[in-house]
Amino acid sequence: MNIEKIKSQNSSNSNLIFDSKLDVQKQNTKEDPTISDDSPNKKKHFYIIELIILALNFSNSIACYIKTPKSLELLISSTVFFGFMCLLCMFFYLLDLRLKSFQKFSHPFLYFFCGLGLVFTDPEVLWIITNKDIGTYFPSLLQIILVFVLQSSVQTTPRLYIFSIILGVLSFSLSLAPLKNIPRTVYLLITLILVCAKLKKQPKHHKKIRTTTNKTEVLTTYRGEQLPKNLDDQDRLFIEQSCFSSLANLIGPSANIIKLQEKSNFSYGVSELIGVLSQIGKNWNFDTFFISDCTGKEPIQIMGLYTIRRYGLDELCCVPENIIKNLLRKLEQSYKSNPYHNSMHAADVMSSYIYFVNNSDMLDAISSIEMLGGIIATLSHDVGHPGKTNRFLVLTRDDIAIAYNDISVLENMHTSIVFSLLKIEDCNILMNFNSEKWLIIRKCIIDMILATDMSKHFDMMAQFRVKYHEAGSIDFTNNEIRSDLFKLLMKAADIGHAAKSTELHERWCRLVVEEFYIQGDMEKSLGISVSMYCDRETTDISKSQAGFIRNIVYPLFSTINAILVSEKIETSCVSQLKTNELYWVMRRKTIRGSSLISRREEYINNLNSLKKRRNAERKPSLPDKYIE
Ligand SMILES: [Zn+2]
Repeated sequence: MNIEKIKSQNSSNSNLIFDSKLDVQKQNTKEDPTISDDSPNKKKHFYIIELIILALNFSNSIACYIKTPKSLELLISSTVFFGFMCLLCMFFYLLDLRLKSFQKFSHPFLYFFCGLGLVFTDPEVLWIITNKDIGTYFPSLLQIILVFVLQSSVQTTPRLYIFSIILGVLSFSLSLAPLKNIPRTVYLLITLILVCAKLKKQPKHHKKIRTTTNKTEVLTTYRGEQLPKNLDDQDRLFIEQSCFSSLANLIGPSANIIKLQEKSNFSYGVSELIGVLSQIGKNWNFDTFFISDCTGKEPIQIMGLYTIRRYGLDELCCVPENIIKNLLRKLEQSYKSNPYHNSMHAADVMSSYIYFVNNSDMLDAISSIEMLGGIIATLSHDVGHPGKTNRFLVLTRDDIAIAYNDISVLENMHTSIVFSLLKIEDCNILMNFNSEKWLIIRKCIIDMILATDMSKHFDMMAQFRVKYHEAGSIDFTNNEIRSDLFKLLMKAADIGHAAKSTELHERWCRLVVEEFYIQGDMEKSLGISVSMYCDRETTDISKSQAGFIRNIVYPLFSTINAILVSEKIETSCVSQLKTNELYWVMRRKTIRGSSLISRREEYINNLNSLKKRRNAERKPSLPDKYIE
């Protein structure tokens, strides 16, 4: 089955509201993760390490020659090799800066050639070749191990690890030949086993990096303030309705059921999509739409299972894999077919959350229980969502609002549903957790899901800034700080589509806007005031999106980046927010004054029905024939 073809077919299903002029997004999965993730700093790091290894090898040869000045070949070959490799490294580095695709060739070549040089300029190997007793000084395997350890700090592909193992085995066999030192041979064997064991582990794809975001500046901005400045009336009303929970803000209409969840006839499993799924946490613009399309609308099951396995959390749970699959299936089935709040959104939020953790110092501090908690929380944070806001549920006296006393109505429901699912025997992946572990993961999941209630947004932000305004006070090893950060990361992941590539962001926007409009239609039909930006006849989408990014998403991401200090988060997310805001501002200028609904007939029909309704309200006696 041709995945690219399927993707292009699916992406051609355009929506009526938007008229995207952007090109179809390229799927990043064909790119080598090592290559796509490399920054200039990382490239430089790679070449510096190569030069350090070469210098060590050269000094080893000189030391050996000084100790037993019998082998001139050793000194000559080492000098020639060292000089040649230095020139090659410099040449490749300069070329690498200009040609991005050059790394595909240069990195494995240098790595392999360097390792080969280390073996064949090793005094012991030379002893075998020249049959001279030159003694040993520094066994080649130790150098190979050194290469391996140093290279681990730079991103490497599995291919490169295999090369290093081949060289290690070769070197080890050669070092066995003289059989002069059995204890050393035993030591080398143990080291080799340890290196092989390390192979099984996932290489970390992050490093400590500096960022241009000023931590103190971001954390102290807006301290104690409840609302951003310079808001116009519409943005203020929208924020008041969605970001504050007081009843006063709640006081202020028929549902179009959108056909969204159409089951595909084909589907792929984790093993078939492994290449695409490996981008979770590495590619900020991970395309969950694609996964959903080619898994028969089962992104939670596929992405969730992959991520749980990837971080070895299946071993933490210590339950048969069927139990994990059952939970993920039940969770997916508990999501409703809303335009936006569906299982695809949940899976996408998980991908964004993993990206934050994976690309910051948080990866070193997070425990496996917290990692599992984060995955469960993100995947279940909107489970059972009816496609209506808390405000709507409270105003319509919905059963859910009654059940949760109007307090974080939806969020309480989502949390309750996931723990109900976890109580089912076939789905209880936490069955082997003792009380202590279970309480830790339960608190983690509850805190994270409840944090997604936007009515708490400004309070949370203000509290966070007051608590962590001093740049030095953020210690990732502190449980309380980590817990606060998980909530913030969850919130950012939940509204993270605003920081995705413009094409992905626009696609998510269409869905969220459609869901808003359905609620707006219902509010009209029920005779309650229409929530801000939910009226399909009057809403200016570009304006609402630009305002949402400017007033809510950007400050949140800036705060997170001031704490996580990640170059990747800054370049992939924070700067993209500015691009997307500008996109909506420019779009607004180009379509201002024209219909917000792309189809003219639809616009005229809506206008007529509006006129009819207004006239009916104001002048009931006017005969129908004059209304048209
Ligand atoms: Zn959500």
